[in-house]
Amino acid sequence: MAIETNLQIVRTRIAQACASAERSTDAVQLLAVSKTFPPEAVAQAAACGQRDFGENYIQEGVEKIASLAHLPLVWHCIGPVQSNKTRLVAAHFDWVHSVDRLKIAQRLSEQRPATLAPLNVCIQVNIDAGAGKAGVTPDEALALAHAIAVLPHLRLRGLMTIPEPAADFDTALAVHRQAKALFDRLCASGLALDTLSMGMSADLEAAVHAGSTLVRVGSAIFGGRSAAV
Ligand SMILES: *Cc1c(COP(=O)(O)O)cnc(C)c1O
Repeated sequence: MAIETNLQIVRTRIAQACASAERSTDAVQLLAVSKTFPPEAVAQAAACGQRDFGENYIQEGVEKIASLAHLPLVWHCIGPVQSNKTRLVAAHFDWVHSVDRLKIAQRLSEQRPATLAPLNVCIQVNIDAGAGKAGVTPDEALALAHAIAVLPHLRLRGLMTIPEPAADFDTALAVHRQAKALFDRLCASGLALDTLSMGMSADLEAAVHAGSTLVRVGSAIFGGRSAAV
C-alpha cells in the first residue's frame, strides 16, 4: 500500500487510541521509523506532512540525513550507540532515544557541536527485564537520569522502552503502565521530562492508553522489512 495511505491509517489509529483513552490527539507524536528504507520513501512521507524520522543504524541514518538535508526534518537515533559512533550521532541527529550508559551520554555531550541546539536524549529502559535486551533496569534509571540532566550539551527529555511483544492488549497495557509509572517517578523526583517513547506498529494502542507521548512506527508506514531488524 502507498505510504500516504499507510500514514493516514496510522494517524487514525493514534487518534482513536487517544479518544478512547480520553487524551488529546496532539498529546502523542508520531515518529516514522525509516530504517532499511531508501531516502525516496522518507521524502514521500515528508510530502504527506511527516516531520520526525527514526533510524537504528547510525551509518545508514547519517547517509539518509545528508541526502535529505534540503528537507526540514527531525532525525531520531533509536538504535544502539557504541562509543565509536557517538561523534557521528552528536553531529547529525536531533534526538537519541537509546542512551543506557553515562559514558555514552558524556561523550555525546562533549561531542555535540556548539553551533547546534542541545541533543535531545531519552534513557532506554529494559522495562520487562527481557534477557539480552538493551536498556537500564528500572532501578538504575533514576540515578542515570539525574547524572545526564546536568550534562551541558544534552537535554534529557524522558524514557524509551521496547517491551516484548504481548499476546493480548491487557498484557501489553500492564507492561506499558510500568514504564509510565517509572516516568512519573522520575518527574516527581524533580526532572522536567516530557517524552515517554513507547509503542510500535503492533502495540501503539496499548502504549497510548498507558500514557506514551511518542510512538515509533515503522512497518505500518513503510511496509515489511526484508531483514529481521
Ligand atoms: C524497528 C523499530 C521500531 C519500529 O518497529 P515496527 O514494528 O516496524 O513499527 C520502533 N522502535 C525501535 C527501537 C525499532 O528498532
